[in-house]
Amino acid sequence: YQSKRRNDGPVLYDPAFDAASSQTLTLLGELRHAVDHRELRLYLQPKLALDTGHVVGAEALLRWEHPRRGLVPPMEFIPFAEQTGFIRTLTLWVFEEAARMWRVLNEAGLRITISVNLSTRDLLDVELPQKFEALLVKHIVPAEGFCLEITESSIMDDPQRAMSTLERLSGLGFRLSIDDFGTGYSSLAYLKRLPVDEIKIDRSFVMSMEKDPNDARIVRSTIDLAHGLGLTVVAEGVENAQVWQLLREQACDEAQGFHMSRPLPSSEFISWSTGWTTRLSAMKLKGESRM
Ligand code: C2E
Ligand code: MG
Ligand code: MG
Ligand code: MG
Repeated sequence: YQSKRRNDGPVLYDPAFDAASSQTLTLLGELRHAVDHRELRLYLQPKLALDTGHVVGAEALLRWEHPRRGLVPPMEFIPFAEQTGFIRTLTLWVFEEAARMWRVLNEAGLRITISVNLSTRDLLDVELPQKFEALLVKHIVPAEGFCLEITESSIMDDPQRAMSTLERLSGLGFRLSIDDFGTGYSSLAYLKRLPVDEIKIDRSFVMSMEKDPNDARIVRSTIDLAHGLGLTVVAEGVENAQVWQLLREQACDEAQGFHMSRPLPSSEFISWSTGWTTRLSAMKLKGESRM
């Protein structure tokens, strides 16, 4: 991949790009085709409140159902889309799809927040807030129903511009979250000034915190930091019951992970949630607190 650029202006020549240009054009063509021919899928992974066990949100995660290659994970095309600028088209597709899903879930009685991932390029797009606002109006959905996830590094790429985009998104009513917290360039000075509502602890610290005391310490201090700043804290990558229990004891607010559910096709999300709620009430009747 190309080295990171400081802004999103036109790139006239980049040797790394040139060497792979025919491959690049092929993949870019295939991605355009994917959008036009409905090969993209938005999966939903539930986010649960640790104290009650209730489903409080879902993260929207992109998949590409490639006619020959099968289900392509995002890490195989998102970095490329970011590099070429095509991510802006993808992000608008993702947000519009998330808005449609929010309506469907809401009408089924699920009052939850849908989280959408934004990339660096999106934060540098001064028109992003108005594009999102137009989609809210088109689908008659409230900004408060969505949380936008951004990484520390994407903010630090051009802090001034990112800050102004984030302030406008927050002004519209969107919730904002810092994703993969602890892995990127972090600036606590910016964190304090940003209009964020939530921090997501990266799964690399959460996944084995029941075995690794250093990971457990990092998670604990991140929870304290978040609470000290008045932010909600979410742990991603909860893969077993011990980790769920530890996070509960440390008063972490929300959790997401394979232990509860993998990302699901949207058609399966409602039935999963219904089943989960039923199991939860059964456990409460029996007085079980462990999951
Ligand atoms: P992310 O935003 O940090 O998303 C969480 C990732 O962790 C997802 O991977 C999810 O499947 C995975 N995960 C959740 N729980 C567990 C667990 O318990 N164990 C393990 N090992 N993994 C877990 P996924 O779907 O492959 O997405 C990878 C990354 O791709 C995302 O990381 C995000 O950075 C990016 N991405 C996905 N969809 C989009 C999108 O629509 N737009 C943008 N810009 N990026 C996206
Ligand atoms: Mg995310
Ligand atoms: Mg994450
Ligand atoms: Mg992550």
